[in-house]
Amino acid sequence: MKKSTQVVQGVHFLDETAHAIATPIYLTTTFERDSDGTYPKGHMYSRNSNPNRDLFEKNMALLENGAGALAFSSGLAAVNAIFQCLKKGDHLLMPQVGYYASYKLAEEILGPWGLEVSQVDMTDLHAVEKAIQPNTKLIWLETPANPMLEIHDIETISKLAHSKGIKVAVDNTIATPYYQNPLDLGADFVMHASTKYIGGHSDVLSGAVVYKKEDEWSARMQRVQILMGATPNPMDCYLLCRGLKTLAVRMKQHSSNALELAKYLETHPLVEKVYYPGLASHPQYDLAKKQMPNGQSGMVSVCFKLSESETHQLASKFTIFKQATSLGGVESLVEHRKSIEGPQSTTPGNLLRFSIGLEDLEDLKQEFWGLRI
Ligand SMILES: *Cc1c(COP(=O)(O)O)cnc(C)c1O
Repeated sequence: MKKSTQVVQGVHFLDETAHAIATPIYLTTTFERDSDGTYPKGHMYSRNSNPNRDLFEKNMALLENGAGALAFSSGLAAVNAIFQCLKKGDHLLMPQVGYYASYKLAEEILGPWGLEVSQVDMTDLHAVEKAIQPNTKLIWLETPANPMLEIHDIETISKLAHSKGIKVAVDNTIATPYYQNPLDLGADFVMHASTKYIGGHSDVLSGAVVYKKEDEWSARMQRVQILMGATPNPMDCYLLCRGLKTLAVRMKQHSSNALELAKYLETHPLVEKVYYPGLASHPQYDLAKKQMPNGQSGMVSVCFKLSESETHQLASKFTIFKQATSLGGVESLVEHRKSIEGPQSTTPGNLLRFSIGLEDLEDLKQEFWGLRI
């Protein structure tokens, strides 16, 4: 099946009570045992499993071509489940450009527990090779990466990592399984902030990990899911499954709007530089086309010919683009990224990150006509 069929048809379960086409929502914390003490439907307690969560996990595994998936109550809880497979004294190699809180989790929370973490320019393969240490156990990629939308070479870095017994995890939030399947390119784990494009409507906070095969890492992540307890509720899992059904049509529109708007902004007098992996001016355009041949998603970052404070002011001058953090919803958002990331941020002060929504392209373009602070 093609991806756009897969997202609609996906994995279903038969509603034995009413043969409903839409999935019932199992708002229950617990399940009844049989007289012999067993659980006939396999569910015992909703932190361990729930029919709606099962369905979301099965669909994520299907879409990412994995052996299985685990759902969490946020993207960061999913990141944490992967990091928790590391032990005291292990080294984690992370990209210099990437979602800032993933690095903060490793450094600020797991650092004091004995995890060693360092950052490298993930676009420089020579630098990556040099940054690998004897105790490196995991390489973290994020591609396209927040907020500069740089591209990490999943296939090449996975080969290098595996030659040294190192695992590779990819944050695939921006690409989505519709445009990129990291497991097919050699990665061991895919992580999603399903808060973003998978939910797709800015109304569910959640995350997922998909693993390529069942092994001691996937078994530990499952124990982390159950024992650390950051599990999504049945209603959220229902909304995520519902979001998945329209993933293909939404991503096509996000992506084509973003490409056209990025091209237009390259000609705008107030613009210094546009970052979008689908633009020929992107430093890794060829790699982006190879890893994501069918589209480069809906995120566009723009540096303006303005100071940091002027750029921050500019973010409030739009009508359709609402000034808010997050991405991947149906509505367009704009964000001054540096001020969100805090004082340690290396993001340029004159950068605004745009999450391009599903509105009409001409209306989005008009937002930039005569734009001034
Ligand atoms: C939002 C985001 C996360 C974190 O997800 P939450 O649901 O906010 O915890 C991780 N990675 C990327 C790329 C994100 O955009």
